[in-house]
Amino acid sequence: MDMSTIPAARTVPLAARYGGRTVLAIGAHPDDLELAIGGMLARLSRANARVVMAVISIPNDYATRFAEAQRAAAILGGELRILAGERCCRIDDIKNYQLVGMLDQLVLELEPAAVLTHSAHEFHRDHVAVHNACFATQRLKPFDFFHFNPTMVRPVPISFHPRVYVDVSDTMDAKMQAIEAHASQFGSRGLDSEMYRDLARLNGRMVGVKYAEGLDVARMLLG
Ligand SMILES: [Zn+2]
Repeated sequence: MDMSTIPAARTVPLAARYGGRTVLAIGAHPDDLELAIGGMLARLSRANARVVMAVISIPNDYATRFAEAQRAAAILGGELRILAGERCCRIDDIKNYQLVGMLDQLVLELEPAAVLTHSAHEFHRDHVAVHNACFATQRLKPFDFFHFNPTMVRPVPISFHPRVYVDVSDTMDAKMQAIEAHASQFGSRGLDSEMYRDLARLNGRMVGVKYAEGLDVARMLLG
């Protein structure tokens, strides 16, 4: 018997909860969603969920990074939206009320069954700003609300404790391809994205599957 993992539990499949419904993922920059929840998003789109990948802004090199984000979204089966529009823009340049307004509008339009975004435990201030703006949208609709693992291109030690795990064994390759689509952030800079495979393997061991992504749950209705 393999003692390195616990046996996987029987559980309700992701498709039963979100199949045919809309899931809204919100990331500060292109590549954040792929790094944190690419495997989950691919699973959801394969389960016929409508997956909206909302990116707040592209901070530099718009054409390249937009093309990369489009390629990654296509790999995962998501619908890409750049909320700050077709121009380079930093999150610091967006006023807080405008950020909250953008996200409110999105939640009202899409009526998502689930919203996923950055957690409060992030070292990147842009990510925390997006978390705070997203947090406020909970007042509008009764969606499940999850926070994902801190995202970074170079490893930084920061504590995050998953409370929910998503089995991404079948979509790990799609996740890695979607990450690699962001060549300007990884391949072109000589950085490798294997850290994210390592993390998924470690999370998988916690729940007895090959690969998993970890989430924190902020609100969820068990009906
Ligand atoms: Zn980011």
